[in-house]
Amino acid sequence: MLPFKLVYSDDYYLPIGAHVFPAEKYERIHKRLIQTGVAEAHDFVTPIPASDQDILLVHTPQYVSKLKTGSLSAHEELQMEIPYSPELVRAFWLAAGGSILAADFALKDRVAFNIGGGFHHAFPDHGEGFCMIHDVAVAIRCMQRDDKIVRAMTVDCDVHHGNGTAVIFAGVRVPTAPLPSRSASVLNPAAGRVRNAHAGDVFTISLHQENNYPTWKPPSSIDVDLPDEIGDDDYLAWLDNALSSGLRQFEPELICYIAGADPYREDQLGGLALTIEGLKRRDELVFHVAHARDIPVMVTFAGGYAQKVEDTVTIHCNTVIAAKEVFSQRSAKSV
Ligand SMILES: [Zn+2]
Repeated sequence: MLPFKLVYSDDYYLPIGAHVFPAEKYERIHKRLIQTGVAEAHDFVTPIPASDQDILLVHTPQYVSKLKTGSLSAHEELQMEIPYSPELVRAFWLAAGGSILAADFALKDRVAFNIGGGFHHAFPDHGEGFCMIHDVAVAIRCMQRDDKIVRAMTVDCDVHHGNGTAVIFAGVRVPTAPLPSRSASVLNPAAGRVRNAHAGDVFTISLHQENNYPTWKPPSSIDVDLPDEIGDDDYLAWLDNALSSGLRQFEPELICYIAGADPYREDQLGGLALTIEGLKRRDELVFHVAHARDIPVMVTFAGGYAQKVEDTVTIHCNTVIAAKEVFSQRSAKSV
């Protein structure tokens, strides 16, 4: 039995037809976790859809109304890059409900997963890049509304910049000089660039490939613009640097880790060169940092477009395995 919960529903499946987004990945992850003995049936909990009130904490009434009445313009549907249907709306409301539930469990158990979600390209008033509703932002705003937390941090390791997240939590940002860090000496300044800005009540970190979607990258609290083809060691050094810099500037009560599988070297929509092993080390690093500082972590899966869907499934399952390894150590120590 896992020392944390996995939030999952068969209805996470996105009815988008033949698409580069492998809508069946959630079901396959669920199956693989059970078949390989990583998780048992009772480690999973079933979410209910977010309420409209929850969704409206992040999204505009006009946008929510268009989604519920099927009145998006052709341009808006094109920009979302997934075909509109009432069933798809239900799947996104459910994904948001899953992230709310996972955030709740994370606050109780120190870590929890939504075996889905991470739709970081959704904006308050429109969807983009396969994302209709920003489930992570909805979960954070629900935790704040219910007085469970005041401050949260997003750590976005999808290969694509978290543009929706940056806009939703923009607040008032003032550019600041990057802080020195213990690991800064190992970073090659020519191999990446860090942009810093002060955050409001949610501190946003995004590590992403610079030469990739989205073209316009609104500022996060920390943006790490990575060059093409960066490998495991450089990536991990940048992540370590961003985490330590972020956690010196800000004390979150919840970390929302967006564990995209698309920095993988065989990803069809990504241009970084991480290995499956390197991606697991990435997960371990995030969990070790959170564990050491006793900050709860809620995990969502975001993108993953490996040539072989099985690789995407492996990368996502490894994130669960990494959490099991790190957070089981904690239980063993505390008994
Ligand atoms: Zn992505």
